[in-house]
Amino acid sequence: MWPFKKAKPAVSAAPIFFTNTLSGKKDLYVSIKPGVATMYSCGPTVYGPQHIGNLRAALFADVIARVLKAGGFHVRRVINITDVGHMVGDGDEGEDKLAVGAARDKLTPKDVADRYTKQYLEDIRLLNLDTTDILFPRATEYIAEQIAMIKTLEEKGFTYRTTDGVYFDTSKYPNYGKLGGVAEVKLIGGARIKVEDTKRNLHDFALWRTAKPADLQQWASPWGKGNPGWHIECSAMIRTILGTEIDIHTGGMDHIPVHHNNEIAQSEVANGRPLARYWLHEAFINIEGEKISKSLGNEILLSDISARGLHPLSLRYFYLQASFRSPVNFSWQSLTAANEALTRLWKIARETVKQAKGKSIYSDQERTVIALMRDDLSTAAALALLWETLRDEETSPGVRLGVLTAAEAVLGLDLLSPPDVDVAIETKDLPNDVQLLILKRDEAREVKEYAVSDELRAELETRGYRVDDGPSGTIVTPTLPSYNR
Ligand code: AMP
Ligand code: ZN
Repeated sequence: MWPFKKAKPAVSAAPIFFTNTLSGKKDLYVSIKPGVATMYSCGPTVYGPQHIGNLRAALFADVIARVLKAGGFHVRRVINITDVGHMVGDGDEGEDKLAVGAARDKLTPKDVADRYTKQYLEDIRLLNLDTTDILFPRATEYIAEQIAMIKTLEEKGFTYRTTDGVYFDTSKYPNYGKLGGVAEVKLIGGARIKVEDTKRNLHDFALWRTAKPADLQQWASPWGKGNPGWHIECSAMIRTILGTEIDIHTGGMDHIPVHHNNEIAQSEVANGRPLARYWLHEAFINIEGEKISKSLGNEILLSDISARGLHPLSLRYFYLQASFRSPVNFSWQSLTAANEALTRLWKIARETVKQAKGKSIYSDQERTVIALMRDDLSTAAALALLWETLRDEETSPGVRLGVLTAAEAVLGLDLLSPPDVDVAIETKDLPNDVQLLILKRDEAREVKEYAVSDELRAELETRGYRVDDGPSGTIVTPTLPSYNR
């Protein structure tokens, strides 16, 4: 028996906990199948660009998946693309969002959906979402599956027909509203849902809507031409792609009272199984104290962030500074501070990688970073510990690299290969048009035309460069990675 081989320290044995809206508490994560985590996230309605609030939902799901993946799970994910049937508001009345987008952009619903799906995928790429195990199915590709599910609900006696279409009868399902509590559903749902004349109960919702002559999207069904209600797409896609019972379902807190309770009701009646074991919800972001809304005109897009010369990952850093379950307030000032902090972090990370020469050493700090993230995604505490370790000169480069590597796996901030920001670039290596702007600016400064030189500075900043005045003229430092300049 002697000598014992010294055991390698386990990467981490820390258990994973998530706050589960279904149980109302922090639950130990145990997957249905060992080693596999199935996860569904309600995705974008692609009738317009996604604002930074929508992107918070995507980032939240990404961090959950990263924690599971780093913990050894094979994470099978779906984010649905809603390209049909979603009304403005969560109810069944009003305008269809895709029809609104089609009229605005003078395009077909399909072209509108294509345009904004592409933009969403580009946004999440810039935000470093790990998309390797994600499928992005579109609702319009799963019409047959949605019809099949409605038929099952009809056969089981949970639906009724009206002139408007087919409705789910919530009075037949005693567990209706179990997510977040029935009282809350009544309160929030009651305030938001208009009881249409044809509906039997307040919370009943459309599974299939009879087509109106002007509807651009219509499909044949056993109930005549029409289109599916919004909620059924999630239930049908989950069942088809991930199975009747999944591990994790995510979304914004706004979806708890109506959309997610409706998904649960449909799926559990149709499948005879609980839909998801863990329901994880992220809180909302407000902008300068106000709710994000079209009518206030305060929607901020990722492209607005880049246009201000801030790195797209500054938004990721900004969100990681707080718990995903707390509402946060956005201001340009706090985003600029996040951008600066991230730029400094990249600088120290670059140094660490260089000093450690690829040798990382497992430490208590690394174990703690992992444990913090597994404890309900304590991103703020993990970031704080990362800073503390990297700044501590007593800590060896190997230990620092270990912490950096573990943190990067779950935070996704490009810490191991930071983008080429904050490294001044020689003028000759810049694109020709940027060289020309610099030349013009130096000429303007020589003849003291400061208004012109300021305009040229602003133009260079918009292109993604910080502008400084060096002894022999303009010095530019990129604030965006090369692919974004
Ligand atoms: P929607 O396209 O409206 O269904 O939104 C897509 C996702 O973004 C959903 O999970 C919403 O809950 C989420 N979401 C929308 N607005 C915000 C916001 N202001 N803050 C955080 N999440 C949001
Ligand atoms: Zn959904």
